[in-house]
This record gives sequence, structure tokens and C-alpha cells, in this order.
Amino acid sequence: MFDREEAYISWVLLNVTDRGLHCEAGDFYIDPWLPVPRAVITHAHGDHARWGCDSYLGAREGERVMRTRLGAGATIRFVDYGEAIDQQGVRISLHPAGHILGSAQVRVEYQGEVWVVSGDYKTEPDATCTPFELVRCHTFITESTFGLPIYRWTPEAIALDELRAWWRANADAGRTSVLFAYSLGKAQRVLAGLRDAAIGPIYTHGAIERLNRDYRDSGVAIADTIYAGTMPRGHDYAGGLVLAPPSAGGSLWLRRFGAISTGFASGWMRIRGARRRRSIDRGFVLSDHADWPSLLATIDATGAERVWVTHGYREPVVRWLVEHGVEAEAVASRWEGEGEAELQDLGVAGEEIVA
Ligand SMILES: [Zn+2]
Ligand SMILES: [Zn+2]
Repeated sequence: MFDREEAYISWVLLNVTDRGLHCEAGDFYIDPWLPVPRAVITHAHGDHARWGCDSYLGAREGERVMRTRLGAGATIRFVDYGEAIDQQGVRISLHPAGHILGSAQVRVEYQGEVWVVSGDYKTEPDATCTPFELVRCHTFITESTFGLPIYRWTPEAIALDELRAWWRANADAGRTSVLFAYSLGKAQRVLAGLRDAAIGPIYTHGAIERLNRDYRDSGVAIADTIYAGTMPRGHDYAGGLVLAPPSAGGSLWLRRFGAISTGFASGWMRIRGARRRRSIDRGFVLSDHADWPSLLATIDATGAERVWVTHGYREPVVRWLVEHGVEAEAVASRWEGEGEAELQDLGVAGEEIVA
């Protein structure tokens, strides 16, 4: 017999509201974009962790960056990956997403029904966070930031080699290398990769240095850096490497570095036009998101019967899945232009004031 109640539960374990993804049975939201009483946060990026909620749940690995993002006064409960908590009979647990320090997928289980919200994720491991963990589920809500077939990443080591060679050539020519990188996650990933590379000195913009401190305090090994704000006026930066958030591009802040060559570390650099539009000398393809093949492989491996696609190139991913027999649909999010948001570096609290 058709079980009406069961079907209902299966459909609405999570649903999209004007505040974000809501779990009615447990009365909590996942990455809400407006203030709510109870928020479960996938990670500390600005388009996922918003201010103003009464209480938050997040992964302990990301405690320091989450604090920097949400402020000392926020009420945040931190749990270990895999540790389950009960919320009105709904079992919630967080699992590594491999995106940035403390990033999590949210697993929600109620009466035998399992949904997983991926948040932003990346399946290639890197040195700055716990690697992605595959979680089986009935319904998978996946991001799709780079959900087009053109987005395929080469291994991280290749981008780092190119980066070193670029810095070397600039240093030999007496230029300063200015590398733009998203201040939370990407910058520290680059610094972890350059730890033993004999590059430097490495100078940082304040927004990045603040997060470097959080990463170091969390036990992540990254290259030594010098906050550029502590250097005397007229200091000669030639031959150095400067790490700055994309928002510093074209700003007066850059003038102090003399003759510079600019680079940008991002998945968007896979497209030449993205670099040209920003007048960047060199692009390094380094992304903290899943590329097209790993998006599809991950979706398949979850065993999900139903897939909701959000946060990026939703339509191409949905079309591909439907064509391959998967029940899939696009789900609206507040952040349609997530990619552009990352390019513009929504960043963390205080980013503007330290420019
Ligand atoms: Zn993110
Ligand atoms: Zn995001």
C-alpha cells in the first residue's frame, strides 16, 4: 500500500525556503542566508556562513576560521567529523568536504531517510584540510560551481611548479611577484604547497595574514610569511612574492611593491578570458571545488536516487544527469553567481578594513 506519510517525509526532509535549506522535522537551516534560530554551517566562506543566527553548528576542524568569520560573540557548537547529534529525532553529522579547513558535508538522517548536503567540495586531497569523504545517501544536494565539461583540473603539483617558475623568472628580472588568491583557503593552500620551495620572502596582505594565523593555530603547516603592513616605507620588495586577495587588484595598496608581475590562482583561470578581463599576467589553475569529472563521479558514487543541484552551473549538470537516467533538478540558492562571488572575494570579516 502506498504510504502517504512516508512519501511526504521523503520529499520534505529538506526543502528550500526564502531563508535557505530548511529541515522541518529538526527545525534547523543549512547555510541560511538570513538570520534563523538554528543554523548548520558547511564552512566559513562568506556565502555559506552568514552573521546574525541565534546558534550555529560547525566542524571542530574549522573552529578558528569560523570564529574569525562569525565573530567572538556568536554561539557556535563545534562537533568532530562523524560525531552525530540529535535534533528533535533528526540525526545530524558533519563529514569532510575537502574544500577548506573545517569544510563539511551535512548528513541528515530521519526515519531511515538520508540526505547529504555537500556544501562546496573538492575530491583531490591537499595539505590544509581533511580529505573529502564519500557519504552514501538517498538524496544528494551537490554544488556545481564548475559544472561545465571544460573545467578539468590538472594535479595541484603542476600549478605549484608553474608558480615557482614564474616567481623565479620575475625575481631574476628584479620584479615582485603579486599572486592573487582567495584569502580563506586558497592562499593557505598555496602557502602549504610552497613550504619547502625556497621562495621568498613571502609578503601578505592583512586579510590573508589573519587567516594564516588561524591555519597555523589549527596545526596546518604553511610557509613563513611577513605581513606587508609591518614593513617600513620605501622597503624594496623586488624578488619577493606577495599574496593578496583578488579585491586588492588594481588598488593603491599595490603601488608599494614597485615593478610587479601579477598572477591569479583559481579554477577560473582555466578560461583564458577570465584572466584577460582582469588584466592578470599569469593564471594558475588551482581550485578548491570539484571539476566536471569529479562532480559526476562523486554524484554517482553517493548512490543517491535523487540529486538536487545548486550553487553554480546548475542546468548543465542537471541536464547531464537526467540524460543519464538520474532524477535531478536545479535548486535555487541566493548565490547564483557563487563563482563571481568568489572572484570578488566576499572574504571574511574585516577584509575591507585591513586593505
Ligand atoms: Zn566555499
Ligand atoms: Zn560556496
